[in-house]
Amino acid sequence: MTHSLQQIWHQAWTSVLVEMSDQELRWLLSARHHISLLQKRRTTMIVSRVRLVAGLFALLTPLWIVVDIAAFPREVWLPLVLARIAATVAFALITLMAHRMTNMRDAYRTLALLFAVPTAFFLFSYQHMSQFQLHGMQAAFSTGYAFLPFVMLAGLSIFPLTLLENIAFISPLMIMQGMAGYMRLPILDWPTFAASFWLMMLIAGVSVLAGLSQLAFIIVLVREAIRDNMTGCFSRQSGEELLDLQFILSKRSDNPLTVAFVDLDHFKQVNDRFGHDAGDKVLISASDAIKEQLRMGDMLARWGGEEFILIMPNTTAPMACKAIERVRASGFGQRPDGTPVTASIGIAERSRDGVEDWRQLVELADSRMYEAKQSGRDRIVGCSELTAEPAPAAA
Ligand code: GH3
Ligand code: MG
Ligand code: MG
Repeated sequence: MTHSLQQIWHQAWTSVLVEMSDQELRWLLSARHHISLLQKRRTTMIVSRVRLVAGLFALLTPLWIVVDIAAFPREVWLPLVLARIAATVAFALITLMAHRMTNMRDAYRTLALLFAVPTAFFLFSYQHMSQFQLHGMQAAFSTGYAFLPFVMLAGLSIFPLTLLENIAFISPLMIMQGMAGYMRLPILDWPTFAASFWLMMLIAGVSVLAGLSQLAFIIVLVREAIRDNMTGCFSRQSGEELLDLQFILSKRSDNPLTVAFVDLDHFKQVNDRFGHDAGDKVLISASDAIKEQLRMGDMLARWGGEEFILIMPNTTAPMACKAIERVRASGFGQRPDGTPVTASIGIAERSRDGVEDWRQLVELADSRMYEAKQSGRDRIVGCSELTAEPAPAAA
C-alpha cells in the first residue's frame, strides 16, 4: 500500500472509530498476522454467532412452510417444502456441530457452511419458481424468495471479519445474484436487475463497515485485556493462555520451550523506604530492562506483584540461560538510592525437565526461583547444575 493510501486508511478509521496502531490497522485488512490471542477470541465469537444464526434459521425456515402450502399450488409448493426441510436439517446440524470448533480454520468452515445452505436454497427456489407464471398474491410471495441474498449480505455484518474475509464471503453472493439474472436472461427486466444489484452493493458496503468496526473493537479489547496496564507486559491471564498454546505447539513439533520465573529481590524494602510510587517505577524499569534484551517471539508476562514469567519458545535451557545472563549483565535498573535492582531466577525447559503440562513447567521454574532465593538471591537456578543431568523419563 502506498504511503498516502495508508494515511487515508488510518485517518478514516481513527476519525470514526478508535485510535489504532499501524499493525492493528493491518489486522483489519487481513488475518494473516493476527496474534494467537486475537485469533482465539475471534474464533469463539464467530463460532458462537454461527450457532446463534443457524439455530434461528433452523427454527424460522420451517415456519414458512405453512405460507407456501397456503399460497401456492401443489406443484409449486412441494419442492419448496422439501427444500425447506433439507435446509432446516442442515441448519440444525451446523448448530450442533459448531460447538466443537476451536480454531480459525474450523470457524471459516462453519461460516462457509452457514452461507452455503441459504445459497443453495436460493438457487434452487429461484430456478424452480421461474418455471411458473405467478400472479397477484402468489407473485408477491414469490418475490420474498428473491430477497434471500440481501438477508445473507446483511447477516454478514454480525461477524467480526477482516476486509479480505468479507470480500471472500461477499463475492459468491454477488456472483449468485448475477447467475440468478442470467437464468432469466430472455425476460430480464434490466433496470430492476441493475437497481437490485446496486442495492446489494450498498448493503454489502454497510455490512463490511459493521464487521470491520466489530473487529476493531475486539482488537482494542484484546489489546487492553492482554496487557498489564502499568508495565505493558502481558497480563497473568494472557500469560497463561500463551503458555497453554506454546506448550501444545512445542510438544507437537518437539521443539524446546523454556520458561524463566523472575522475582525481584527485596522489593518490599523499596516500597517501605521510598513509597509505593517509587516501587512502581522500579517495576516498570525492571520489566523494560528485561524486554530490551528479548528476542522476537519471546514473551514477558507479569505473573504477580514483582514476579515475571518469561516465555521463550524454540529456546533450549542453555540458550535461555545465555539470554538471562545478558539481562543480568545489563541490569534490572536501579532503586531510588542508586543501588542496582537484582532478581532471583528459576529456569525450566519442557523436554529436558520432562514435564507434562505448562503448569508443571511454571511450578518447576518457581521452585528453582525459590532455591535461588534460599541460596542467597541475585542468581539463576536451572542452568549449569542441570544441563548435565539426564531428563527424567516423560510419563
Ligand atoms: P524477596 O527477595 O524474598 O522476593 O523479597 P520481596 O520483598 O521482593 O518479596 P515479598 O514477596 O516479601 O514482597 C513483594 C512486595 O511487592 C510486596 C508488595 O507490597 C509489593 N508489590 C506487589 N505489587 C506491587 C505493585 O504493583 N507496586 C508496588 N509498588 N509494589 C508492589
Ligand atoms: Mg515475590
Ligand atoms: Mg521478591
